[in-house]
Amino acid sequence: MGLRIDTQDVLFNLEEHLKIERLLGAERYKGLSMDDLRLILEEARKMAVEVLAPTNAPCDRQGARFEGGKVTLPHELVEAYEKFVEAGWIGLGFDASAGGSPVPHVLGVAVVEMFVAANTSFNMYPGLSRGVASLLLAYGNEQQRSYVPRLLSGEWSGTMCLTEPQAGSALGDLTSSAERDGDHYLIRGTKIFISAGEHDLTENILHLVLARTPHAPPGTKGISIFLVPKYRIDENGNPGANNEVVCAGLEEKLGIKASATCVLKFGESGPCHGYLIGQEQEGMSIMFHLMNEARLATGLQGLALGSAAYHAALDYARERVQGVDLRSFKDPLAERVAILEHPDVRRMLMDQKSMVEGLRAMLLRTALYLDLAETSPDEAERERCQDLVDLLTPVWKAFASDQGFRVTEQALQCFGGYGYIKDYPAEQYLRDCKIASIYEGTNGIQALDLLGRKLGRKGGRLVMGLMEELDRFLGAEQDHPSLGAELGRLAALKDRLLQTILSFGSAQASGDFLHPALSAVPFLHMFGHLVCAWQLLEQAVEAEGRLNALYFAEGAATAEEQEALLARNEKAVYYRNKGLTARHYVRHYLPQAHALAEAIESGDRSALEVRF
Ligand SMILES: Cc1cc2nc3c(=O)[nH]c(=O)nc-3n(C[C@H](O)[C@H](O)[C@H](O)COP(=O)(O)OP(=O)(O)OC[C@H]3O[C@@H](n4cnc5c(N)ncnc54)[C@H](O)[C@@H]3O)c2cc1C
Repeated sequence: MGLRIDTQDVLFNLEEHLKIERLLGAERYKGLSMDDLRLILEEARKMAVEVLAPTNAPCDRQGARFEGGKVTLPHELVEAYEKFVEAGWIGLGFDASAGGSPVPHVLGVAVVEMFVAANTSFNMYPGLSRGVASLLLAYGNEQQRSYVPRLLSGEWSGTMCLTEPQAGSALGDLTSSAERDGDHYLIRGTKIFISAGEHDLTENILHLVLARTPHAPPGTKGISIFLVPKYRIDENGNPGANNEVVCAGLEEKLGIKASATCVLKFGESGPCHGYLIGQEQEGMSIMFHLMNEARLATGLQGLALGSAAYHAALDYARERVQGVDLRSFKDPLAERVAILEHPDVRRMLMDQKSMVEGLRAMLLRTALYLDLAETSPDEAERERCQDLVDLLTPVWKAFASDQGFRVTEQALQCFGGYGYIKDYPAEQYLRDCKIASIYEGTNGIQALDLLGRKLGRKGGRLVMGLMEELDRFLGAEQDHPSLGAELGRLAALKDRLLQTILSFGSAQASGDFLHPALSAVPFLHMFGHLVCAWQLLEQAVEAEGRLNALYFAEGAATAEEQEALLARNEKAVYYRNKGLTARHYVRHYLPQAHALAEAIESGDRSALEVRF
């Protein structure tokens, strides 16, 4: 069962909904045309489907192995990495001066969705290299920036080393230390759960390590960030002496098995040199640069695996014959039908389809804001879009990873018993997806970020900025002939969400921080549903206009002529389905958002009062 990528939906998002051609006017993308972007997407699809996807199950079966102090990756992964690197995919989106090829973020997100769907474990390695490269470009000194081309060419790779046994969500409790020793620092400490911490893919690994300098204040304020190479870098810029970063073991885990999750010991067996990035005690704010990017990538994991799982389930439902059509259930000799004909299977598939398309629309919209925040010629517009990115980052990370996981679970259900066994990909998608709600800040922490930091920032301007976007859409489409009821439901949820925000404000004003914290995750899900529904309805309006234009162009005026066109024209079917998908989302998921609001509004504090 091969990987299916929904190129049609991706292209609709990019070209017809978000109209990304407008981004190509920016100086940064000079010389790039829409044809170039389409070609990149097609090449990415081929890399995903032909090179990476066939390695997915073998990588899962073999996993990363730890023997004699060394980490060995499945040979399929190593061979795929060589092809990936040769094609230059790691540098996509970076400036040419850094060794990359600039493209809009929104395109980069669409490309990475394909790679993650094809082999999530694999993508951890280039993904971390990209993150480290981006951080060094933003905060590194000249020498540190000079390592970026090595990361983007795939010769070297990167990691982010935050977690310690006693410091996971609470990074302020970390104890790794860094003591100045001439032009470098001596790093000591143990980091756990470090993805790509040790492997045989690249000739050097650049670790970004959070540690404390002597006499630094307690908590996150006292944390600094260091570049710690696996092999020290000599005067010619090449890997030299061993830097005493020792891999003490690998975690055995539920999914992403070929991603090496390492225990790393720094400076235990000899001096380990680290090089300060930025200034002492700026570690957390600098690491946030990487963590914000990583959060976007983690949400993407939910979308990518949800989409791959949904398409696998759809293919299976078309092929698997079981039972008879409900209308002939009394006839034991009635023709056996594919399970796709059963209403409950169709419900499950439509839940998956509408969630996946809603997530994709939300993620690509957020990526577009990121592009506009960087390239818009208007300063106020850049700030407005950055505010929207800041607001939506925790929603994207947590909503997409939670909902993507639920999609993989529902996809598995569509396979029946065959979903539970390894002959089909459903169970691997589910296992590989689960980690996305845990790493890069658990989803509970994302919800507290939304509630505690983002809602009140700039006097509430971030959230009001998003509401203005919704109001503009609702105002423009209020008389829409076919989607009026759905738009009304969107407006009602928006009002309810604002009411909930006000209730949090009053609770906090009266000194009650516990009930808002108790409600943070349900609130984030209300928020996510609102954004997905808004984006799907925008898409439905766009698609309906295009479908009508198609009917007109093809002379399909009557219902019969339109049906005949739908029978032969794939694009017409896609446009029509978009309206149905948006309607399904609004009618099936928005009531769940209202139920979440009702639970929050009840003010119930049982979870706080119960004696466990
Ligand atoms: C496969 C894998 C790969 C990883 N890769 C990396 C990596 O490359 N680099 C790295 O540094 N780390 C990595 N991690 C670590 C990961 O980021 C942490 O596991 C995560 O941040 C949670 O920390 P913890 O496991 O200590 O859980 P804890 O912090 O102990 O959390 C346990 C539970 O309590 C909740 N909780 C904790 N504190 C609060 C709070 N204040 N308010 C509300 N709820 C709270 C959490 O939401 C969670 O549900 C990885 C982990 C795994 C499993």
